[in-house]
Amino acid sequence: MSPVRLVILAILFYIGYRMLRGLGSSGSGQVEEEKKDRAGKEPGVQDVLVEDPVCHTLIPRHQAVRLRQQGKTWYFCSEDCCDRFIEGGETPRDDV
Ligand SMILES: [Zn+2]
Repeated sequence: MSPVRLVILAILFYIGYRMLRGLGSSGSGQVEEEKKDRAGKEPGVQDVLVEDPVCHTLIPRHQAVRLRQQGKTWYFCSEDCCDRFIEGGETPRDDV
């Protein structure tokens, strides 16, 4: 018996095995990947820049740290600025 025939037999056996498995488990091996629609969530919001009232940095609103105070929402570049804003208690007058 030549080694080539053994290899062919092995391959045929492997293909048959794969086919049987494929029929048995109908697509259960599929890995579901969660595709998050970044653009579909809040259209148009990503481009909005907001100003940090503490350090006056402009940051994209979806990245900003939010603080709701007296019915108004403030946006900060970081939690540090948010803390400073709360500690300082200074409410800027510029209504945007
Ligand atoms: Zn800041």
